[in-house]
Amino acid sequence: MDVVIRGVQKTFDKLQALQPTDLRIKQGQFTTLLGPSGCGKTTLLRMIAGLETPDSGEMFIGEECIFSSARRIDKPASRRNFGMVFQDFALWPHMTVFENIAFGLRASGRTKQLKEQVQEAVRTVRLQGLEERYPHQLSGGQQQRVAFARAVITRPQLVLFDEPLSALDAMLRDEMRLELINLVREIGLTALYVTHDQIEAMSMSDEIVVMQSGKILQSGKPEHIYNKPEHPFVAKFIGKSNWLEKDKRMLRPEHIHWHTDGLKEAYSGTIHSVSYLGDRYEMQLDMGDMGMWTAYHQIRMTVGEQIKVYISQEHIHQIQ
Ligand code: ADP
Ligand code: MG
Repeated sequence: MDVVIRGVQKTFDKLQALQPTDLRIKQGQFTTLLGPSGCGKTTLLRMIAGLETPDSGEMFIGEECIFSSARRIDKPASRRNFGMVFQDFALWPHMTVFENIAFGLRASGRTKQLKEQVQEAVRTVRLQGLEERYPHQLSGGQQQRVAFARAVITRPQLVLFDEPLSALDAMLRDEMRLELINLVREIGLTALYVTHDQIEAMSMSDEIVVMQSGKILQSGKPEHIYNKPEHPFVAKFIGKSNWLEKDKRMLRPEHIHWHTDGLKEAYSGTIHSVSYLGDRYEMQLDMGDMGMWTAYHQIRMTVGEQIKVYISQEHIHQIQ
């Protein structure tokens, strides 16, 4: 069953944290809310969870209405059957791994075969042998796995993730990203994931919803968002963008070529800066009236060098 949101909005004092918003979270899909800090992602997630009350709008799971301001329906958070994983993991410090994971089952009175269910969850997230430890005796990655197991053990219809990897250091974050997406796919969960990290969003999601200032700007598959941004903000927030005409005609760095190879469009500029990325060099090109462009090359160029680059019309994306 899809989760459907219609016209949901929220104002804090005088600040409109979320403008009237429509969203469909498709069953079995990994949907990500992506946007800069303060754009309203957490507010939207908390309203779906039932932890925050919308000023107006409606929300459904399949046919069932879980919130309607007009009809005065507001199903309590505890009865929505959604799992949640937070940035700070929010584990119970005085409970063992076993008890933390069992918590949701106990709270909902589903204690039949509790031990077997917890053991299966422990196996799924590869924490065997650590059942009797307390959260402070675990690494960040292990705590993250406990939080995940706890959120999914009740087989929720939807799991909500609020920046669950941002407290981890960079290397562990990459590892946990893969682990998390594999677990979500393995269990067949429907997920709504919040992040400000475009790499996370691009690599994990079936569907990305880009937000800015309390509003959804565009949603679609990662490839579509990257190749066909409908808004200058989307083009700039996701990947690197080069502009032939300010906020109108955009080109991605990988489509800038250093040899003509039959390409007719040539542009002249100067190398402004060079950074070594290991597998290639990333360069800022000063393109005069068109501003700075980003381009990649296999060899190191010299700052100040005059260059010519070639592009193909078909790779120029026009923002409507
Ligand atoms: P994000 O998760 O995208 O960083 P939030 O949804 O947390 O953004 O916040 C959106 C806006 O609403 C921010 O300007 C934030 O300061 C404000 N806000 C969020 N929660 C509250 C609250 N409980 N009271 C007042 N303002 C809030
Ligand atoms: Mg947030």
